[in-house]
Amino acid sequence: MDKRDYYEVLGVPRTAGEDEIKKAYRQLALKFHPDRNPGNAEAENKFKEATEAYEVLKDPQKRSRYDQFGHAGFNQGGGYGPGGFGFGGFDLGDALRAFMRDFGGFGFEDVFGGRGGRADNRGQDLQIKITLTLEEIAAGVTKKLRVKRLATCKECSGYGSAPGSSKKTCPQCKGAGQVRRITQSLFGQMVSVTTCHNCGGTGSIITAPCPACRGEGRTREETTISVNIPAGVAAGNYIPIEGKGDSGRQGGPAGDLIVIIDEEEHDLFTRQENHIICQVPVSFVTAALGGTIEIPVLGGTERLEIPPSTQTGKVFRLAGKGIPYLRRRGRGDQLVQIHVWTPKKLSDDDKKLLRKLGESESFAPPKASKSFFDKLRETLGV
Ligand SMILES: [Zn+2]
Ligand SMILES: [Zn+2]
Repeated sequence: MDKRDYYEVLGVPRTAGEDEIKKAYRQLALKFHPDRNPGNAEAENKFKEATEAYEVLKDPQKRSRYDQFGHAGFNQGGGYGPGGFGFGGFDLGDALRAFMRDFGGFGFEDVFGGRGGRADNRGQDLQIKITLTLEEIAAGVTKKLRVKRLATCKECSGYGSAPGSSKKTCPQCKGAGQVRRITQSLFGQMVSVTTCHNCGGTGSIITAPCPACRGEGRTREETTISVNIPAGVAAGNYIPIEGKGDSGRQGGPAGDLIVIIDEEEHDLFTRQENHIICQVPVSFVTAALGGTIEIPVLGGTERLEIPPSTQTGKVFRLAGKGIPYLRRRGRGDQLVQIHVWTPKKLSDDDKKLLRKLGESESFAPPKASKSFFDKLRETLGV
């Protein structure tokens, strides 16, 4: 198979400068890298081809030889220079090593984004659960939390080195923090990128560890962290507090503290989304004649007018007396369900009066009535 022209492979003009060549190669290498295209032979070939082209064009001597003689300039004699390779045997392993040597680990952070690559020493996220009352949820609250976390060591500022000593670049990974392993398997060459065990992914080796943290760069502490909880949260909501999880090893980025909301059961109210529901006992007399009753609301009491002939199960809606909405204006409602109270202790006089009332036709209940739950459902619109 005829080899393609190296400039054509990289898609650059013959006059391209070093930077242009490097940029073109990097783009191709990231696009066709085997880590991103597992099992894709075409991508693998493109990766090899681009790397081979780059190995020649990045080097002024090799480039001028190529410009003069083309591929023929390299076909004889195999290898060239220290660390070089013969093109007869330019295989995937060579290409991957070449890519690693030129671009180290950093190329992969761009590809895989964010926390991959060198951030292996990022601290752990911590979770903490807090239980709030409905009143706190309705008003919003600032809570002080006691948190046990690994904090940046004050002695060494997180570097892990004893004062006055310095670090050296990890010889195993040359500072990349990760190593690329190429193994032969039944399916051909397998490439894996793993954290460098020699340096734990930091890329450097401590020569004299800090005595306070034994080189970890972090120490245990118990600290108080203040968290503002907006009104309207619900059980299961969580608030991430960036950088308040464990500090990373040897100066690595800190994890987050995740505050998970739970809700305490309320004596009087049941929450349904942003509405609150309560049941209020009303005397038979007030229910029959109508009147003003005192009802509990979040953070206080209010007076509610009920009409004559109010039945048990009747629900009154107090608009805007529920829980505020988290991400928009306004609040839910409070639903007050009336429960007509049947007296438990009656005097002889009371009984006499009631028996007399019982003789009135008005006191005879109707044959059937819509059930309590149907009415509640109707009112709630569910
Ligand atoms: Zn290393
Ligand atoms: Zn330390």
